[in-house]
Amino acid sequence: MSLLPLNGPDDQRLSELAATVDVQRDPEELALLAGDESVVQPVVPGAAVMARSVEDVAATMRWAHTHGVPVTPRGAGSGKAGGCVPTPGGLVLSLAPMTAITVVHPEHGYAEVEPGVITETFRDSMEHEHRLFYPPDPASLDWCTLGGNVATNAGGPVALKYGVTGQHVMGLTLVLADGRVIETGRRQPKDVAGYDLTSQIVGSEGTLAVIVGVRLGLLPIPREVRTALLGFSSMGEAASALVDARRAGVLPRAMEVVDPVALQRVRSTWEHEGSPFGVDEATNALLLVEVDGPEGTTEAALQAMLDGMRSGPNSVREASSAAERGALWATRREMSKRVKRGALGWVTEDIAVPLGTMPSVTAELADIGARHDLTIACYGHIGDGNLHVNVLWETEAGAGQASAAVDDVMALALRVGGTVTGEHGIGRAKTKWLEDRLGAPALALQRSLKSAWDPRGILNPGVAL
Ligand SMILES: Cc1cc2nc3c(=O)[nH]c(=O)nc-3n(C[C@H](O)[C@H](O)[C@H](O)COP(=O)(O)OP(=O)(O)OC[C@H]3O[C@@H](n4cnc5c(N)ncnc54)[C@H](O)[C@@H]3O)c2cc1C
Repeated sequence: MSLLPLNGPDDQRLSELAATVDVQRDPEELALLAGDESVVQPVVPGAAVMARSVEDVAATMRWAHTHGVPVTPRGAGSGKAGGCVPTPGGLVLSLAPMTAITVVHPEHGYAEVEPGVITETFRDSMEHEHRLFYPPDPASLDWCTLGGNVATNAGGPVALKYGVTGQHVMGLTLVLADGRVIETGRRQPKDVAGYDLTSQIVGSEGTLAVIVGVRLGLLPIPREVRTALLGFSSMGEAASALVDARRAGVLPRAMEVVDPVALQRVRSTWEHEGSPFGVDEATNALLLVEVDGPEGTTEAALQAMLDGMRSGPNSVREASSAAERGALWATRREMSKRVKRGALGWVTEDIAVPLGTMPSVTAELADIGARHDLTIACYGHIGDGNLHVNVLWETEAGAGQASAAVDDVMALALRVGGTVTGEHGIGRAKTKWLEDRLGAPALALQRSLKSAWDPRGILNPGVAL
C-alpha cells in the first residue's frame, strides 16, 4: 500500500485529527522537530502531534493507518543516527510530554514510566526517593528520554558491568501501527511464555510500534564507588590495559577511553579554563575507570586492576570526593562537543569491535586518518569494545574525503568481527552498511518482521531497514 504524506500544515485530513489530539502546525515549532544530533539533514514535518496520553497516541495511529500518513515517533531528539528525522510530509509524534513515573514497586524491583521521562530524572528519583539503582547512563542522560533509550537500546559507561537499556526493560506498553494497544513482558525476573516481543521492540528505532509505557527493573544501590583517571603514554598501552584488567579478575563498572588526538583537542579547548582531564605532557591517552561493590571492597578491586596492567599507567588520579568524581564524568560527557570545536565538519561513528582486537583497531584507525588526510579522534566506552570515531575536517577538500574514510572505518569494524553501530542505531545515517553487517537472508527476515508489525509501512519509513 502506498503512503500518502501530508501536503503541509493545511492538509484537510489534519482537521479530523485535531478534533481529538493536540496537533502542532506552526512552522517555527515544526522546525524544532526537524532534526537530531546526527549529520542527517533535518526535514521539517508536515505536522506534529504532542501526545499526552496513550489514547492520544492510539487515536493518532488509527488516523495515520487509515490515511497512509508516515509517522516518526520522537523523544528528545538527542539521537545520533537520524532516527527521528521525519519523512517529507510526514507526521512527528512527540512523546516528550508524557513524563509521569507512573508507579514504583520497590518490593517487586520495578517501576513503570511514560516514555517522555528524562533518563537522569528517573535515575535520581529512584536513588534519592527509593534507594534503588537504575544503571543505564547514556552521556546524554540529562536530556534524552527513556522511550528513546528503549527505542535505540542505549548504552552508556556503566553498561560494561550492568548491561545496556534492553537488559533492564521488563515490559512495554505499545501502540501498534493501526492504533491497537498491547502489553509485552513480565513483572517478575523470569517468564518464557511465547516469543519475546519486548526484545523485538528494544532497538527498533520507532519502526515497529510506538512505546507508550516502560516497565524498568531496579537494582540495589552499590554501596561504594571508586573512580580514577589513568594516564598512558600511548593508545596501544591504554587499549591493552582493558584486556589486562579482565585477566586480573576485575570487571570495572565503567572503562572509558580518550585517545591522543581527542586528548590533544580537548587540551586546547580547555587551555584557559583548567580541566579535570588536565594531565602532564607525557600522557597521551586516558582511561576513566570506575569500580563499585560492597563497602570496603573497591580499593582492593581498583588496585588489583592496576597491578594487572602490564604497561602503565604512568599516572593514576583517584577522585577524592563526590564533587571531583562528578567533574570527571561531566568532562567525559562534554567530549562529544569538545572534540569537534574548531572543525569545519565531522561525522561521528560508533563502531564496536571484539575486545582483544582493540589495540590493532585503534592503530588502524589512525592509519585511515593519515591515508585520507583527515583527523580521526576517538573516545568512548572501550570496556564494551565501543569507540566513538570522530572523522573531522578543517578544509573543504577534507569534506570530500570523509565518506571514503568512513567506509574504511566501517569495513575495518566488520573485518575484525565487530559492528557498524554499538549503541546509536542505524537510523537514516547507516542504512548502507546494514546488509554487510547482517547478511541478505537475515535482512530479508527483518523486513518480514517489519511487515508483520506495520503492514502499511507508516512507522518511520526509511529508518533502519
Ligand atoms: C552528547 C550526547 C551523548 C550521547 N551519549 C550516548 C551514550 O552514551 N550512549 C548511547 O547509547 N547514546 C548516546 N547518545 C545518543 C542518544 O542520546 C540516544 O540514542 C538516546 O537513547 C536517544 O533518546 P531520545 O529521547 O533523544 O530519542 P530520539 O533522538 O528522539 O529518537 C531516537 C530514535 O528512537 C525512536 N523513538 C523515540 N521515542 C520513541 C518512542 N516512545 N516509541 C518508539 N520509538 C521512539 C525515534 O523514532 C528514533 O528512531 C548521545 C547523544 C548525545 C547528543
